Amino acid sequence: MLTTQEQLKYSRQIMLNKIGQQGQIALRNAKVLIVGVGGLGNPASLYLAAAGVGTLYLADGDTIELSNLPRQIQFSERDINQNKADTAAEKLTQQFHDCHVEAIDDMLDQELCDYYLPQVDLVLDCSDNIATRYLINQACVTHKVPLVVGAATGFDGQQMVIDPRDDNSACYHCLFPASKKAPDNNCQTIGILGPVLAIVAGMQALQAIKLITGNKAQINKLNLFDGLANQWQHFTMKKQKECTVCGENK
Ligand SMILES: [Zn+2]
Repeated sequence: MLTTQEQLKYSRQIMLNKIGQQGQIALRNAKVLIVGVGGLGNPASLYLAAAGVGTLYLADGDTIELSNLPRQIQFSERDINQNKADTAAEKLTQQFHDCHVEAIDDMLDQELCDYYLPQVDLVLDCSDNIATRYLINQACVTHKVPLVVGAATGFDGQQMVIDPRDDNSACYHCLFPASKKAPDNNCQTIGILGPVLAIVAGMQALQAIKLITGNKAQINKLNLFDGLANQWQHFTMKKQKECTVCGENK
């Protein structure tokens, strides 16, 4: 049951018939791991905490730099040189009393994945490097945990949902096999604008809320955003039988 305070606070979400009381309770019970608390993880964690997600785990080993501030909107100049996960956890805890936030102030590795994934309902990949993306994808497939991937560089963003609970779901490796070397562009090499990250992170938060509340989140779709042309393009992805992560011979 929701408390009277919760009924009031989340009333505009509860009145949506695709969310309702049950959806709000599901959000309160949900545990979400956000990997990377930079330009995507900042807005995504704010929206999930604000929506009433009960538990957030934030993983990031990086410290805050001056050049992060135009897009990592939870941080200020006072936070420079502090760890990103610790700082975001502290701020979210102050702002959203209903949300339990735990910081993992380390780069995610196999051991951390194997410890945290069995405890969570969902993972958001808000990281900025290909090695971490492959690691999270593999771990989510192994532990059968849904994964919402987001990425952005320049004016462009991409977003996709991988749901290893569904046998037909393609994984990140199906799309970008390690042997073909996925492009490892990042905002340090080509730049980025904050609102592009906000759009992708908003999509990730929306997909996460849909998954948690039992609504359909579209798998096997690569969604690309072109911020200059103001356009989304949607491509169908297919699970690859020969994928070494999710395929038949894994
Ligand atoms: Zn795959």
